[in-house]
Amino acid sequence: MAKTPTVIVAGAGVVGLATAALLATGRCADRLRVVVLDARPVPRWRGDQMDPRVYALSRASQQLLGEIGVWERVAQSRAAPYARMRVWEGADAYAPSALDFDSADIGEPNLGHIVEDALLRTVLADALGAAQEAQLVVGAQIESIEVQAEEAVVALKEGGTMRATALLAADGTDSTVRRLLALPVAGHRYEQTAVVTHVQSSKSHDGTAWQRFLPGGPLALLPLSDGSSSIVWSLPTLEAERLLAASDAEFLAELAAATAGVIGELTACSKRVGFPLQALHALRYTAPRVALLGDAAHTVHPLAGQGMNLGLLDAASVAAVIEDAVLAGEDVGDLKVLRRYERERKGDNLAMLAAFDGLNRLFRLPEWASPLRGLGLRAVEAAHPVKRLLMQKALGLDAGRRHRVRWSRAELQA
Ligand SMILES: Cc1cc2nc3c(=O)[nH]c(=O)nc-3n(C[C@H](O)[C@H](O)[C@H](O)COP(=O)(O)OP(=O)(O)OC[C@H]3O[C@@H](n4cnc5c(N)ncnc54)[C@H](O)[C@@H]3O)c2cc1C
Repeated sequence: MAKTPTVIVAGAGVVGLATAALLATGRCADRLRVVVLDARPVPRWRGDQMDPRVYALSRASQQLLGEIGVWERVAQSRAAPYARMRVWEGADAYAPSALDFDSADIGEPNLGHIVEDALLRTVLADALGAAQEAQLVVGAQIESIEVQAEEAVVALKEGGTMRATALLAADGTDSTVRRLLALPVAGHRYEQTAVVTHVQSSKSHDGTAWQRFLPGGPLALLPLSDGSSSIVWSLPTLEAERLLAASDAEFLAELAAATAGVIGELTACSKRVGFPLQALHALRYTAPRVALLGDAAHTVHPLAGQGMNLGLLDAASVAAVIEDAVLAGEDVGDLKVLRRYERERKGDNLAMLAAFDGLNRLFRLPEWASPLRGLGLRAVEAAHPVKRLLMQKALGLDAGRRHRVRWSRAELQA
């Protein structure tokens, strides 16, 4: 009997866990062994505290989590739907040039949900734990990789080796797998740092995601289910460092001015955390027996809240490619198989990276460019088909369909 192929996923972030869970619960669950390795333990969501790290998940990401069977638990635990998004620059959030997206305009109940990182990782790790042929190994740092004719041999710093028919690297923007295999990347640092915190406010966020383009970088206010808002404020790094070190009162005063009062007075904030920002794109996503996905393959500016959504589309694509290969009796680690995933995803990821990079640059241009920006926003607001297209992109529905996000098992069987 042929040996059961082993897929090792490096990284138990959301992208790695979702990829592993798709494979371990999908069409070929009984024909694959799936092992996830992470250097650190997976955080457990307890519910008594809001995780500072949250994601604006698109509808396509939600569908994908539904396919794995974990969305219901996410929604019941804590997920904040948002039905509107308002994007503006300048002092007035309601100026005619502001962009207003409303899910009702495209007949959808919402534009997406805000969900905590720890909650996503908890439900995905549990789904993996319940699967027959899956294993999550934490405290396992990859030290070296030797690619042989039929396997990749992964040596761990803690001792021991593991053999993979295919090694999927979802080990984040500083990917060890990418470095060990010397896979080249292009990119640049933004010299910006995102300051992330949650704030309480006197006015309701009204289920709206707010985004203001400021000269130093974009400021996002994401609505949370307990009425507070998650702040992602991208700033020149020196300014971010100053605000990270400031007292709560000083920070809230500066933030209040930046929010232009859209959620009223800011009354309290949680611990502030800084994320240095960069753009990065792997020139190749694949090598024999290896594929990069999520932030290991592409790291985008958080201004549109799409990094995780793109990573989850990678997960859907690579899982579908591997399952098709298993069903066709192919070697799942063969470069020609893994290249199918690269061909499906690279163009879209690169286009999104370039779009977010361009937007960040446009809005950081000096004052003279302001009319240009206002003109751009007004043009989008007035052109309904363009606006509709942007909304479809943000929802991830077009890419979801193309990249075989499996909408439901029933649909799959039909
Ligand atoms: C401020 C900010 C806000 C954001 N907001 C949004 C948003 O609203 N919506 C959205 O879609 N995206 C958002 N993003 C982007 C999103 O955070 C990333 O795209 C996403 O976390 C990438 O997930 P990942 O699983 O690929 O990598 P990671 O989350 O970085 O996970 C990588 C995992 O690999 C492990 N690892 C690393 N090295 C090794 C090793 N050598 N051996 C074993 N394990 C290893 C790590 O411990 C980690 O668990 C935001 C990003 C930032 C910075």
